Amino acid sequence: MEEIKDECGVFGIYNNEEAAKITYLGLYALQHRGQESCGIASSDSNNLYFHKSLGLVNDVFKENTLSQLKGKNAIGHVRYSTAGETLLKNAQPLVADYYYGSIAVAHNGNITNARIIKDELEENGSIFSSTSDTEVVIHLIASSAEDLLIDRAINSLKRLKGAYSFLFLSEKEMIAARDPFGFRPLVMGRLNGSFVFASETCALDLINAEYIRDVKPGEVILVNGEGAKSFFPLRLEKNSNCVFELIYFSRPDSIFNGKSIYSLRIRMGKELAKESTPEADIVIPVPDSGVPAALGFSKGSGIDFEMGFTRNHYVGRTFIEPKKSIRHFGVKVKLNPVPDVIRGKKVVVVDDSVVRGTTSKKIVDMLKLAGAKEIHLRLSSPMVIAPCFYGIDTPVKEDLMAAKYTEKEINAQLGATTTRFLSIDGLRRAVGNGINFCEACFSNVYPQEINCESEYENQTQLKLFSKEVF
Ligand code: SF4
Repeated sequence: MEEIKDECGVFGIYNNEEAAKITYLGLYALQHRGQESCGIASSDSNNLYFHKSLGLVNDVFKENTLSQLKGKNAIGHVRYSTAGETLLKNAQPLVADYYYGSIAVAHNGNITNARIIKDELEENGSIFSSTSDTEVVIHLIASSAEDLLIDRAINSLKRLKGAYSFLFLSEKEMIAARDPFGFRPLVMGRLNGSFVFASETCALDLINAEYIRDVKPGEVILVNGEGAKSFFPLRLEKNSNCVFELIYFSRPDSIFNGKSIYSLRIRMGKELAKESTPEADIVIPVPDSGVPAALGFSKGSGIDFEMGFTRNHYVGRTFIEPKKSIRHFGVKVKLNPVPDVIRGKKVVVVDDSVVRGTTSKKIVDMLKLAGAKEIHLRLSSPMVIAPCFYGIDTPVKEDLMAAKYTEKEINAQLGATTTRFLSIDGLRRAVGNGINFCEACFSNVYPQEINCESEYENQTQLKLFSKEVF
């Protein structure tokens, strides 16, 4: 899938001699969650140090930059990519000095009432230095009347609406917090005597940390010299984990609420096969994200699995196209069909979703050009009919193909032989018990009460707020 992007990934470690280096490794494992910018802030009991820049983790951090990030505590952040604009001011962790000292914050999510809080803070004299929704939290913490950082953070979190998994770092303490709905993931681990937090368990695996548990929705964890303390100061809501983490965003080797993402995707493919297996010769995935669901479809249907596309893993964010445009260039530079596998075959092609439909159309066209006899498109998510306000960069409703057309009409527009989406019930069966998920983008029913008109306006504002202006 090419069309929607996650917002970010966060990582933190407390009490480790090599805090910055380990955070760098953690960010490496989370690179799939954001490729626009990255950063690390560290602390040594007296001061905060930080380095951040546009680019991938491997480009931004070198031995000399890491060695300047002193201290035994660190948090890091990777941010998703957008085209064109330079967004260094919005790179995280955001770091600020205030009356009580210094603070750094790394955020995954989207604060839906950030604009309202920002207006209020500016009226009272606050001056913002970024256009990121995250900065409101720093201002709230700085202006809180409480003495202790944990109380200032909790008071600030009580003001926020929307999705957040936060890591805060001061000179001496670290705080992890997850919103009461649990939209974005956050896990906790141990590495010898160190506490570790990460967006996904794959970051714990890379550094050989032991997974302890997921940070619970609405939980705030304070880590300092006395150990870790858990608080539940926020009104608890119905768990609403983002189901797209399971379908697409999280790495397949990560564990979410005790369940393997890879196995969940296999199950989605099997459910899809139960719902709509056509007569076909081969099942192929749209790599990489469609691979487990396509394997599941193959297992469920008994149709042979083949790798019908080759993916180029070395493509950067942008590439120079020759003046005389090449058909399907944007997709083709990343994916190319294997003609020998495709030619003359009835092909089931499994992808994870259709958003605008532009990539799916190109995939169908490429398979036709490669000689497929029939093309049966199968999607391991239900139809995306509504935008996300909780940290996923989906288009506005008018640009969502499934918001405008029926399954049959989508099939006609894409030019496939048949197109079928996994049903919401099929998705629920695949996910099984133990995970309550947000399904607002399939149902248009949002877990947090939303006044649609103002939220659309808000979404537009947030896009400006977080991506374009600074
Ligand atoms: S609206 Fe969709 S993308 Fe956004 S949090 Fe809910 S499930 Fe995830």
